[in-house]
Amino acid sequence: MSHYAIMTDLNRCVGCLSCSVACKTVSNVPIGSFWIKVLRVGPNKCGDYQGKRPNIETYFLPMQCQHCKDPECVKVRPTEASHIAADGTIQIDKSKCIGCQFCVMAYPYNVRYLNEDERVVEKCTLCTQKTAQGELPQCVAQCGGRARFFGDLDEGIDNFECPANPTKQGKGVSYDDVHNARQKYSDIAKPYDASDVHHLPNVGNNPKFLYVLRGRTWQGKE
Ligand code: SF4
Ligand code: SF4
Repeated sequence: MSHYAIMTDLNRCVGCLSCSVACKTVSNVPIGSFWIKVLRVGPNKCGDYQGKRPNIETYFLPMQCQHCKDPECVKVRPTEASHIAADGTIQIDKSKCIGCQFCVMAYPYNVRYLNEDERVVEKCTLCTQKTAQGELPQCVAQCGGRARFFGDLDEGIDNFECPANPTKQGKGVSYDDVHNARQKYSDIAKPYDASDVHHLPNVGNNPKFLYVLRGRTWQGKE
């Protein structure tokens, strides 16, 4: 089984919301609901103020389904609508969903919601329809800061990929060429170590998504 995930380099995220908007567009998410939200964390105090600059820091945190290894939403399912798919992602079989919202209440990150029109629960699918064809998830493909990277955890985050920089593709390159060109995280990442790699709080669900944050204090519990 694959263990697909997204890693976000928070030192590159500029909080532009392109990921959120791209996702809503490609996934037809209802107005007022989101499969990915971008939170502002801070400002929080940091270091000693020595009269040189304010002693505050902040960062942006894109939040969505973390496609956990031990998902709480799957444990509470009364009709087996929520399940672990063959690629390791967590999916909802809408034909089995009865809209009871047990999974919404069990879910630790508040990113599931009830589609009022269809009376089924929805959330990020990790763009399984795109990744099955070798494409990047939409939020990775359209990240304004080239801060999001997609890959298989078994291959390590240095091998996660984002779109290549179009300005380095040369003249006469078509949109498809640019769209399909990739670069690895190791190609553009600034140095980081294990202490810079974080997960959202783990309440037994073992979230798979990763966040890299250097030089600032991660505000969440691991
Ligand atoms: S992976 Fe796809 S469905 Fe999930 S947040 Fe990104 S764009 Fe939306
Ligand atoms: S599109 Fe990229 S840079 Fe913009 S908010 Fe989302 S993760 Fe951050």
